[in-house]
Amino acid sequence: MTKNEKNKEGSITNVSDIGEFALIDELTSGFKSKNKSTIKGIGDDTAVIESGSDSLFLLTKDMLVEGIHFDITYTPLKHLGYKSIIVNLSDIYSMNGTPTQAAIGIAISSRYSVEALKEFYEGVKLACDLYNVDLVGGDTCSSQSGLFISVTVTGFVDRDKVTYRSGAKKNDLVCVSGNLGAAYAGLLVLKREKEVFKANPNNQPDISKYSYVIERQLKPEAGKTLVETLDKLGIMPTSMIDVSDGLASEIIHICKSSRSGAYIYEDKIPIDPETIVVADEFDINPATFALNGGEDYELLFTISQKDFETINNHQEIKIIGYISDVLDGANLITSAGQQVPLKAQGWDAFKNK
Ligand code: ADP
Ligand code: MG
Repeated sequence: MTKNEKNKEGSITNVSDIGEFALIDELTSGFKSKNKSTIKGIGDDTAVIESGSDSLFLLTKDMLVEGIHFDITYTPLKHLGYKSIIVNLSDIYSMNGTPTQAAIGIAISSRYSVEALKEFYEGVKLACDLYNVDLVGGDTCSSQSGLFISVTVTGFVDRDKVTYRSGAKKNDLVCVSGNLGAAYAGLLVLKREKEVFKANPNNQPDISKYSYVIERQLKPEAGKTLVETLDKLGIMPTSMIDVSDGLASEIIHICKSSRSGAYIYEDKIPIDPETIVVADEFDINPATFALNGGEDYELLFTISQKDFETINNHQEIKIIGYISDVLDGANLITSAGQQVPLKAQGWDAFKNK
């Protein structure tokens, strides 16, 4: 279908009118699985495929596009290579799984030298080594402008441990690993410093006081430790998703998939002090960074009430709310005690903001 072809009613729908998630629905709703081995197709963090053994096979893909997902003026290529792998591993961990193989496709413009691309691959290697993943293939081609990165990662998960977005039950506790909003704080600092530098190239910005949030933006980590911790504690999450688009968007995904509602307490959302400093500088409520920022790659999950004692006061994990009836919808209880419905304003690549 060409860009200008009209639909039956004679009108044209812009992708930006419906947004990323509706677009995916629109494009894929006609596809039904033909193979018995496809256990879970579209609609979770990874596909889940029968392997014929005790474990299930996991498959995921994420793309990073220059000018959309990264700005090469402040993104070191080694970090970018690292992040390209991490964002995919994050989806495997969110199924409670273990990543094993990666394939990476790149489309490169003439602006990128062999040396630059080798630097990118140093980052790819570092992530693969640290997370015990084998690079097993990929594809290379040229692009008219910019760098395009498409990564596919496979992994496995014990059959009885696979965790979908859809398993949250009423009264389950909503938990999150680490802290939220830092990656967005880092992005704002990097953009601000870029503008300062553009205005006066002699102005060398002092970004040392923002090193934590900048690192969270440029070189995130994936949820390996959390998955290992849950295993050690003997806790089986009832649902899980990674925080790539912001807490609001992710809890809404869990609620929709699990046909439930949720209450999240603003004052329970874990936020790093450096994130709060940046939020203050931009005069934005730090919770907004956590709710709508995205790219934190922490894990958002639900657990049964019976696991409360085991998880309470665990330093890696914060309980931020609970699952309720579907009729309630997904809500935030603000620090002032007000209840407001959550909206997914996070990263939605096509939607007009
Ligand atoms: P995530 O944020 O975890 O990467 P996405 O929101 O990108 O997940 O995707 C949601 C679901 O839609 C996933 O199951 C993904 O595999 C699927 N999906 C995304 N884009 C496409 C596409 N162009 N064609 C088919 N499936 C897609
Ligand atoms: Mg995901």
